Formats: sequence, C-alpha cells, structure tokens
Amino acid sequence: MSRTLIFGGTFNPVHVGHLRAAIEVMEALGFAQVEWVPSYAPRHKSDSPLLGFDLRIALLRAALHGHDCFRVNDIERTLPVPSVTIQTLEAMARSEPAADRYFLLGDREFLRLHQWRSGSDVVKLTHIAIACRTEFDLDAFASEVAAVWPASRRVEPPAGALLAFELLPGRFAVVVPLPRIDVSSSLVRRRWLEGRSLSHLVPQAVLELLERHREEVAVAWRPAPASALQAS
Ligand code: ATP
Repeated sequence: MSRTLIFGGTFNPVHVGHLRAAIEVMEALGFAQVEWVPSYAPRHKSDSPLLGFDLRIALLRAALHGHDCFRVNDIERTLPVPSVTIQTLEAMARSEPAADRYFLLGDREFLRLHQWRSGSDVVKLTHIAIACRTEFDLDAFASEVAAVWPASRRVEPPAGALLAFELLPGRFAVVVPLPRIDVSSSLVRRRWLEGRSLSHLVPQAVLELLERHREEVAVAWRPAPASALQAS
C-alpha cells in the first residue's frame, strides 16, 4: 500500500517555508514522498490576489525540480469550484483507494478543521499530520484537541512525532515539530510589490519564473483599488 503525505495549499507563490515544512514532516514520519496539491479556486482566499493556476503550478514544479520525493498533483483543475478539501480527497480516494494518506496541516488550522465544509468527514478519508510552528505546550494542545474532537483519545505517538490522537477509530492525527520559518506567501507578494528582493524567500528558480512572467504577476498581485474593496 502506498503511504503518501499530502500537502494542500494555495501556493501563491510557493516559498521556502512550504519546502522546509514538507521536508521536516516527510523525514520525521518516514514518508517516501510528498504529493503537493495546489488549490484551484480556494474558497477562503477568494478576496486575495491570486496568480492563475497554471502559473502557480509552474512555480511549484520549478521549486520542486530535483526532489524526486516531491510530486505535483493538479487534480483540482478537474473538480467543481470552489475547491474544497473533502471533494479533493474523495476524488483521490476514488483514483487510488488503497493509498494510506496523511494530510499536512498547521496546528491552528487543525483546530479549525471541524468547521470546514464536511470537516469531520475529512478525517474519514485521511490521517492528519499536524505541523507545529508555535512554542508548544503538549498538554495545553491536547486539551484544545479534546475540546474540538470530543470523541478523540490521546495515544502513544509514533517515532518522530510529539503527540498523537485517534480522532475516529483507525484515524490518527500526529503532531510533528517544525523549526519556525516566518515566511508566508503574503510576505513574498508584499516584497515583490515593493520591488524588494525575494532572494532566499523563494527558490532561485521561482524567482526567475516570477521575473519572466512579470506582467501577469503584476496584474494578479496588484492590490484592489479601495473603491472595489468597499463595494465587496
Ligand atoms: P498566504 O500568506 O497567502 O495566506 P501561506 O504562506 O499561508 O499563504 P498557503 O499556500 O496558504 O501559504 O499554505 C499552505 C500550507 O502551508 C498551510 O497549511 C500553511 O499553514 C503552511 N505554511 C505556510 N507557510 C508556512 C511556513 N512558513 N512554515 C510552515 N508551514 C507553512
């Protein structure tokens, strides 16, 4: 059975924080590969300036080039919009029913998962790898998990994990510590709009591709005029 770590995100654009997170979790939990699944039309980011899907995919491929353990999956291109995780996981389960999947989420995102569309059904389709960037109090986090997943129970963590929970019978969430790298796509976009260097915030190949697509990037990332913001 294949065992895959799924890394979903907007990747607008991909940056070094994403890359490091994927490597840390993959190594800690002993995955052979990471499947990067860019969101085609993210519902929760409909008001943020978004590069076209093809360009975000091209940037991802450029960033991941040379890492045989990384694979880009553009499945959301074929699915109804807005893109929702449950729908993507269902499609992945249909195409490869036997795969054992872990979905990578930040600790704060995990604590909001039950509020996502069909959020509690997400864990019927995948285990969760929780990447923790914050200063971490294990017992406090376990209490937060118990509050939002009342039927869960704390279990012995596997090697490489700090904590683990059984959320539903046979469905686990495992907590992996991450070195804190405070880079976000928003920061990268801000620096780009300010005309400042993106060196070491994104891989060099991403930087070069952004430069080659300068006009498309400028149109996509240009801030909405104040009047448009007021009208929305
Ligand atoms: P934006 O700033 O536009 O909101 P982002 O940097 O958070 O974007 P996303 O593509 O929305 O990037 O994130 C995909 C996933 O990567 C999310 O689970 C997010 O928590 C995680 N992530 C983003 N930045 C980092 C980072 N610096 N370190 C670890 N994980 C990160």
